[in-house]
Amino acid sequence: MAKRALITGVTGQDGAYLAKFLLDKGYEASGTYAASFKDDFWRLQYLNIQDKIILLPLDLSDCDSISDAVQRSQPSELYHLAALSFAGGAFDDPIAYGDVDGLAVTRLLEAVKHINPEIRMFQASTMALFGDGDGKPLTESSPLWPTNPYGVAKLYAYWSVRVYRQHYGVFACNGIMFNHESPLRGLQFVTRKITNAAAKIALGLEKELTLGDLDARRDWGYAPEYVKAMWLMLQQDEPDDYIIATNEAHSVGEFVQKAFEVVGLDWRGYVKADEKLRRSSEAGCCQGDYSRARDRLGWRPETGFEQLVEMMAQEDLGRWQRWMGGESFPWDVPNCPEEKSAFSRASDVPEKRRN
Ligand code: NAP
Repeated sequence: MAKRALITGVTGQDGAYLAKFLLDKGYEASGTYAASFKDDFWRLQYLNIQDKIILLPLDLSDCDSISDAVQRSQPSELYHLAALSFAGGAFDDPIAYGDVDGLAVTRLLEAVKHINPEIRMFQASTMALFGDGDGKPLTESSPLWPTNPYGVAKLYAYWSVRVYRQHYGVFACNGIMFNHESPLRGLQFVTRKITNAAAKIALGLEKELTLGDLDARRDWGYAPEYVKAMWLMLQQDEPDDYIIATNEAHSVGEFVQKAFEVVGLDWRGYVKADEKLRRSSEAGCCQGDYSRARDRLGWRPETGFEQLVEMMAQEDLGRWQRWMGGESFPWDVPNCPEEKSAFSRASDVPEKRRN
């Protein structure tokens, strides 16, 4: 009989890639979308898997809704990915972040404990647990000092997982993931903001891009490789927590330079840094050390930084070109209010640019 998995947040970047990964392995996959959802399944359509997943509505603030999703899907593996994932928005609504990213994990663990304590659960944790870090590459033993409400909520979830593991014997793992990107990344995140803007500027749809701190450094990996690590964690004999990272950090400026190079431009003519856009709490060291995952899971990242940027920039350039050529296809830009002006300008672009 096929193994059954439940993925919360299947409509997000990681959820969509994980669903594809598990379907390819022969799993029966159920996935949740936010009950208040805008009916946008573009990532599942992009990967051509929407009709292969059992889709369930989920309200993470409601214990009954959570229990219902677990009861209906009867999973042996539960991947909890649903979250308010944009750390930059957390200071505007810390209560929602606390509820959705923190307390909801306890609701889920309670559902597992009561419905079937044999379910193995993955919790999507984050480098935001470490806050500014201590200047060294971060390991599972580094001090946990979150500096924004997103990290605080995820820290609550992290400890809940450990308490349910130790106290109730639930097989639950924290994947402490550093940033991971892909062409399916949300438009609010800096990497996708850069590749989307570079594509538009190259096609004459936009003139410039304004960013915050170009010197901020991040450990950026490729999302489909991170979902494999999630799965590996749940295949082990014992549950544990693992850093998933690349052991490399690159600056936002390096990302910008490479993305503009891919679309044939020198970034210096188009990108401005604005002090006002700097986050009030930028992490100091954001480089992870994935040694434990390498040694115990046999996991390692494969896609390099330059390859990742190139893939994202090429994809965004191709999307805008296809759209200008009159094609319609699964894409997040048409539903993004900030992109409306570029859409109207695109109809004024001379025919020769529509290549
Ligand atoms: P994402 O693309 O933003 O997806 C988040 C998912 O959660 C979406 O399906 C979203 O639904 C759903 N969601 C949000 N609020 C919800 C609510 N109240 N009730 C039910 N569902 C809700 O994020 P991602 O990049 O795939 O990240 C997956 C997980 O990994 C998140 O927990 C994130 O915090 C964590 N993480 C990500 C990274 C990274 O670099 N990507 C790094 C560390 C940790 P909508 O589509 O309706 O918004």
